Amino acid sequence: MKIPFINLEAQYRNIKSPIDLAVKTTLEASQFVHGVAVSQFEKAFSNLIGVNHSIATGNCTDALFAILKNLNLNYQDEVITPAFSWISSAEVISLCGAKPVFIDAHPQSFVLNSKLIEDKITVKTKAIIAVHLYGQSADAESISAVCRKNNLFFIEDCAQAHLTEENGQYAGTFSNAAAFSFYPTKNLGAYGDAGCIVTNDYTLAEKMRRFGNHGALVKDDHVMEGINSRMDTIQAAILLAKLPYLKEWNQKRSLHATRYTDNLKEEENIVTPFVRSNTVHSFHIYAIRARRRNELREYLLKNGIQTMVHYPKSLPNLPAYRYLNHREEDFPVASALQNEVLSLPIYPELRQEEIDYICQKIKQFYHN
Ligand SMILES: *Cc1c(COP(=O)(O)O)cnc(C)c1O
Repeated sequence: MKIPFINLEAQYRNIKSPIDLAVKTTLEASQFVHGVAVSQFEKAFSNLIGVNHSIATGNCTDALFAILKNLNLNYQDEVITPAFSWISSAEVISLCGAKPVFIDAHPQSFVLNSKLIEDKITVKTKAIIAVHLYGQSADAESISAVCRKNNLFFIEDCAQAHLTEENGQYAGTFSNAAAFSFYPTKNLGAYGDAGCIVTNDYTLAEKMRRFGNHGALVKDDHVMEGINSRMDTIQAAILLAKLPYLKEWNQKRSLHATRYTDNLKEEENIVTPFVRSNTVHSFHIYAIRARRRNELREYLLKNGIQTMVHYPKSLPNLPAYRYLNHREEDFPVASALQNEVLSLPIYPELRQEEIDYICQKIKQFYHN
């Protein structure tokens, strides 16, 4: 058997006619930027998540940058962010001229350990970025309470958390503003880069819309400087065509996760993913913790199974953050996770036999 880590071709084949129609319609209308599909997608996404405003952007990193840039930070300011994440949630802080203050991961859920936050808050702290890592809700309600108490701006990175829920509420609705990614491999993916900002704050929404369009809401009316980060019309049309499938796709991911976990829970050499109580995990990534991770990865590859590591180095250990002079011991959980996590294939089109084969090979690796 050959099992790729992700299979976007299979997804396209299943939804070929609505996608082809969306692309054709966009080409015929030929309004490639600011086309009607962009505002249609923004409305549809706002309705789905349950927020007042969505602002479509070029990608999620720009969305995070736009939100943070609005705070007018300087080199004396600090922003709290997880040590174990994709680089976007840290690099935007430095790009805004402030200092990233990393928080170690929670040993079970891998999201930032919310109990460690208050110790890191100083007079310099201006904001917290929480990441719903892998699709696990990041304890957004308690972080939101910490932010209110300490007068901090709260941002959620929802790049991996389309329809993740905490206490019956979707990720993206707990903060002042949240950023979503529609990178092709995400639970809702475009056919190129795309992202968006969601917020209930009208003033902030207008500012974000201006910022991503050279500081102008109306052509040539540049009331401020901004950047160029807009979602292409063709990506919006594709996302609109895919949006009706998102719930069903997430349900399939969830069933796959259950099958993996049922199959692997007795295997003492690995730890299956933990799901926080009162939450719905979007299972963007199904990551196990594994003994002899790299050898297991090699063995699976030899048996036709492609896996990934999210992430092979926690952020404080990356060359990009050497200037902060952190040591691995400062973030013991994140530093252990980087050597132990292994992401198994998970996508709606994955077949049950494939999951069973992967689990069988994992057990064989440890017991042959
Ligand atoms: C994918 C991802 C991003 C970046 O999204 P882009 O749209 O590629 O900019 C940010 N944060 C996390 C956690 C991600 O997984």
